[in-house]
Amino acid sequence: TPGLYIVATPIGNLGDLSPRASALLARADVIAVEDSRVTAGLLRHIGVKRPMTPYHDHNAERVRPALISRMAHEIVVLVSDAGTPLISDPGYKLVRDARAAGHAVTTIPGPCAAIAALTLAGLPTDRFFFLGFLPAKAQARAQAIAEVATIRATLVLYESGPRLAATLGALAEGLGEREAAVTREITKKFEECVTGTLATLAERYADAPPKGEIVIVVGPPGEAPPATQADADAALTEALTRLP
Ligand code: SAM
Repeated sequence: TPGLYIVATPIGNLGDLSPRASALLARADVIAVEDSRVTAGLLRHIGVKRPMTPYHDHNAERVRPALISRMAHEIVVLVSDAGTPLISDPGYKLVRDARAAGHAVTTIPGPCAAIAALTLAGLPTDRFFFLGFLPAKAQARAQAIAEVATIRATLVLYESGPRLAATLGALAEGLGEREAAVTREITKKFEECVTGTLATLAERYADAPPKGEIVIVVGPPGEAPPATQADADAALTEALTRLP
């Protein structure tokens, strides 16, 4: 049926393209892509050729209305270069406008680097907060970290190799001693997950910026130390003095 289909694509290993994603790509009337060379590679892998149209931050405002009107009678697929569209990638306004126009919106879920990193890190996953990319400038970055410092949840951030050490340093500075994991090249040949405190990780990468794509996972702030019996007795005694 016509409408908008949000299709997740592999984050490294082409084997992760789901059969449903593959079927949708093969049937698409048009595929809205970030980079047509990247998506052409994926289409070649599944042996299909479909029309593509660029959809990225610089042309989205201009091309969105045409895509929206095509959804009335055509299968419009949105992909990004890797992973799940809309997650640190364009697309939410396309979904918003498709809904406003009354078109069907369907998701074909699949790989997402943030979720994959959470499954590798060995840190609590019951509550997590996704930060995407932090600002590049030091002051804005420190501000963004300060804003989340008291959140009782695991933090997930996207980062690039050259900025990794500076970002880990800023996180150590703003969040204090916390367990963390640097996950890299997930689903690819050199996949790795290095764990340690923020400070030790910052030091490890200081002189050796790693290659490839990176997700940083930071554990939640430590629990307050458990109260002792003496603390409890003191609190009770103090409370009793305030009773009428
Ligand atoms: N929409 C994508 C998703 O669902 O994960 C994310 C797009 S964002 C523009 C790209 C960032 O995702 C990279 O800079 C890196 O932080 C992370 N990333 C993507 N693929 C990765 C991989 N295979 N291993 C580790 N991180 C990855």
